[in-house]
Amino acid sequence: MSDPLSPRALRLQSELRKASPQSFADRLLEFLQEKGGSRYDEAVTQLEHALQAAWLARQARANAAMVVAALLHDLGHLLMDEFEGRSDFLSNDLLHERIATSFLEAYMPQEVLDAIRLHVPAKRYLCSVDPSYLNHLSSASRRSFALQGGVMSDHERRSMEAEPFLDSALQLRRWDDLAKIAGKAVPAPQAYHADLMEVRLLA
Ligand code: FE
Ligand code: FE
Repeated sequence: MSDPLSPRALRLQSELRKASPQSFADRLLEFLQEKGGSRYDEAVTQLEHALQAAWLARQARANAAMVVAALLHDLGHLLMDEFEGRSDFLSNDLLHERIATSFLEAYMPQEVLDAIRLHVPAKRYLCSVDPSYLNHLSSASRRSFALQGGVMSDHERRSMEAEPFLDSALQLRRWDDLAKIAGKAVPAPQAYHADLMEVRLLA
């Protein structure tokens, strides 16, 4: 398989390698703003989705790790230039949660990485333990649910329950599903600069 990262994402990767915590936060926020203008689903752009999720975390007084996990949980889509309008969007599962996790691995504490890695299985988990959860999902999210494997088997559910950061992943998932409101006013990316620096220093 050829490298799934876009040329711009590869450039970001090399910038982050030598970045101080300050410029680490700068470069990531720049990237979100530069690439986040494409549509995530019917209602919001990818940047709007990220900012709404981060704001829900902030309003819930979550720690910096969870605020950053909310902000960056769909970074994988941007790293691969995946968006609605590309012919294979939501019909080909490019595993954005794993792409983001391995991209961020060297720079983030385990809680952030696990919450991001598990945000897709968390949707499958929530729908498995509570079938009504599916009804609250956006239509794009319901479509990708099937593609991502649908309801979990008992075995998958048990291994999910053994995850040390299961609660963080489920919490992130609930914010994710609420972060799709057209036109909602939320703080700018810069509001999360200090959180990114803090989390970078925890790694
Ligand atoms: Fe996602
Ligand atoms: Fe999301």
